[in-house]
Amino acid sequence: MMKYDYLVVGAGLFGATFAYEAKKRGKTCLVIDRRDHIAGNVYTKEVSGINVHVYGAHIFHTSDKAIWDYVGQFAEFNNYINSPMAVYKDELYNLPFNMNTFSKMWGIKTPAEAKDIIDKQKAEYSIDEPKNLEEQALSLAGKDVYEKLIKGYTQKQWGRKCTELPAFIIKRLPMRFRYDNNYFNDRYQGIPMGGYTKIVEKMLDGIDVKVNEDFFDLKKSGKLSDGTEVEYDRILFTGQIDEYFESKFGPLEYRSVRFETEELDTDNYQGNAVVNYTEYEVPYTRIIEHKHFEFGEQPTTIISREYSSEWKPGVEPYYPVNNDKNNALYEKYAAEAKREGNVIFGGRLGQYKYYDMDKVVAAALDCVREEFE
Ligand code: UDP
Repeated sequence: MMKYDYLVVGAGLFGATFAYEAKKRGKTCLVIDRRDHIAGNVYTKEVSGINVHVYGAHIFHTSDKAIWDYVGQFAEFNNYINSPMAVYKDELYNLPFNMNTFSKMWGIKTPAEAKDIIDKQKAEYSIDEPKNLEEQALSLAGKDVYEKLIKGYTQKQWGRKCTELPAFIIKRLPMRFRYDNNYFNDRYQGIPMGGYTKIVEKMLDGIDVKVNEDFFDLKKSGKLSDGTEVEYDRILFTGQIDEYFESKFGPLEYRSVRFETEELDTDNYQGNAVVNYTEYEVPYTRIIEHKHFEFGEQPTTIISREYSSEWKPGVEPYYPVNNDKNNALYEKYAAEAKREGNVIFGGRLGQYKYYDMDKVVAAALDCVREEFE
């Protein structure tokens, strides 16, 4: 029989941050994960000397110095700056939307020329308060950028029309009138040298961790799969909140992603870590060439084509679909969660929020403060 202060369900960034902080405060944790590895969706795996982002591109970026310093305890970050390219039919553009994009699209040179074109395109719509992603994109960037770089990509990624998606999704992307291809506006950015898995390994150092362990089986039987009986005072649950409550109010919607990964016998396939394919007709959303996250010079390369799909049981959930309908449903689960005395819900799936990694760590540290201070 093993006894713990906390059962942490999910060995991703949220769970690992919480467990690390709990241990520092003298608490005992058992961390379980139903996958066969730790690190959740930030998991990276070395193949032919290249750290492969197995669950998609993860670029750490934040404007919060405290969070940057916090993750810096566990890894050294390189100076990678995300500057994705976008392919639309036979045209190639820089992202995010900036003077390089506009200059290529319209053959212009100055910010005034670009603003003039965008203002004229915007005037065709007269949108005061954007109600959805399409209106937000049109009022931000005009018709050409919307049609070539946003519409098809978004529809592929979310499986929904841009008119049926919340505006905030596109607000994540900077729009600037400078020649600046940095995808993020954040002060700090980089990739942990040696991969993300090492960060989570360090966080979980000295903590009991069991992979291939299903929470719902444990809850039912009180035993781990090897037969060990386990007791715990409190639970931190970072899985899907609706699954925890057996979807009693109905299922929340998530998007999933599938990767087709292959090793190619060339040292450089696309010349960039991330290339987005923004036309609807190309079935994948982007191709990741993993070595470029760490400026790799290996003789071969590994690429992943990313295909987006609706989540269904049996595949990994990635993105909560935060439209009005799902947010309202989530509120019901959140109210139920408050009544569930000894359980904390955290992370992208537990809080049903489209969190970036820095926000996950910040939310976990908030949760720690609430729990222990
Ligand atoms: N987006 C787009 N075209 C692009 C890249 C992004 O329209 O080439 C939009 C799309 O709606 C996407 C959102 O911007 O869902 C956020 O993109 P981001 O790259 O931040 O998404 P993530 O990396 O989290 O999948």
